Formats: sequence, structure tokens, C-alpha cells
Amino acid sequence: MKDTFKHKGLRQKLVAVVKEKGIVDEKVLNAIGTVPRHLFMDSGFLDYAYKDMAFPIAADQTISQPYTVAFQTELLQVKKDDKILEIGTGSGYQTAVLLELGARVYSIERQQELFKKTSMFLPKIGYRAKKLIFGDGYKGLEEEAPFDSIIVTAGAPFVPKALLGQLKIGGRLVIPVGDAVQTMTLITRKGEKEFEQEEFGEFRFVPLLEDRN
Ligand code: SAH
Repeated sequence: MKDTFKHKGLRQKLVAVVKEKGIVDEKVLNAIGTVPRHLFMDSGFLDYAYKDMAFPIAADQTISQPYTVAFQTELLQVKKDDKILEIGTGSGYQTAVLLELGARVYSIERQQELFKKTSMFLPKIGYRAKKLIFGDGYKGLEEEAPFDSIIVTAGAPFVPKALLGQLKIGGRLVIPVGDAVQTMTLITRKGEKEFEQEEFGEFRFVPLLEDRN
């Protein structure tokens, strides 16, 4: 569980790469420069931790590419104390980036193995989510709604209705929508029944799966 000067140096290089690709929000860049991504990966992949690439974690899932994490986080426009729901906890890397920004984070994971591993790991390195939940992200988290924003970190074949209903008025949902390739989509709740939708190019995620538990 070491975070050395070497790791810190590599992280600053990663920040420069992500900036070069178009991320401008200083707070987001700071968070990428702070979260020790190498600790979120299995030791065999340590050399790759600060490359701007997605990588395998447990249970056939991936830790998202840092640029993608930064891109989605920038779209969320996180303010301190925002109440945020994340769908797809995975390694917890995106969760940690949101916590660095001062958000109150609720995160749902449907793979029990990952849920257990990440629930143990995050507090060990000082990241305390409000709640990590083992469950189906398609349903959102009605008992804690409404949220300032919701982020989906797996490719969704469609926008789950439940998530729209759990946004505050003015709240933002950032979700990659599509099958093989996804379009990064930002949906802003303008009123009780009014939603505005914007699209931000193509990304590739592991699929958001229907609940198997
Ligand atoms: N945010 C993660 C990305 C993990 S990949 C990170 O930074 O590492 C996407 C994750 O979504 C996987 O862990 C996968 O198991 C999870 N997932 C897939 N379908 C889901 C669903 N219906 N509900 C909750 N999580 C889901």
C-alpha cells in the first residue's frame, strides 16, 4: 500500500496527458493527480497504472480509463457536498475521484466479489463513501433519492427510467448509452417532467448488465 515519489511523478504525467486530451476543470485534474490509481489495480498490472488506459480488475470487469473518468466527472460539475449516485463501483477508482471532490457518494455494484473487495479496500486508503451497495443499478437507490447527480460507469443499452426519477430538478445524469459502442450522454432535469439531453462522442465500456443475483 505504498504511494512513493515515483508514483506521484507518474501521476503528474498522467494529469498532463489527460489535460492534453481536453480536460480543463482544475479540480478534476487535481483529483486525478491525487488518487493513487496503482493501489486500485492487481499487482501484476502496476506498471500500467499511470498509462491512460482501461485495465482488467476482478470478475471480468475493468477499471475505467483515466481520461474517461475525468471526462465523466467534468460533465457532472461536482460541487462540495453534492449527493451523488454512482452505478458500477468496480475498483472504486471513480468513487475515490468523486470523494476527492468533496461529494457524498453512494455507489452500487452488482458483482458480489467486487462489492466485497472494494468495500474493504476504499476505507483502508481513507476513502469513505456514504454507502456502497450490492445491488442492481438499473433500479437506482430510491431510498436515498433525489441526487444532485448520477453517474453510470458501464455501457447502458438504454437510459433506465428509475434513474431519471431520482434526479433533483437541475440534477445531471451522465451515462454512456449504446451496445458495442456508447455515446456519452448528459441528461439534465429541467423540471418535474422536463429533461434536456446532450451528447458528447463515443466511448467503450463493459456492459451494464441486468441483475443476476
Ligand atoms: N467505476 C468503475 C468502473 C468499473 S466497470 C471503476 O472506476 O473502476 C463497470 C462496473 O459496473 C463493473 O464493476 C460491473 O460489475 C458494474 N455493473 C454492471 N452492471 C451493473 C448493474 N446493473 N448495477 C450495478 N453495477 C453494474
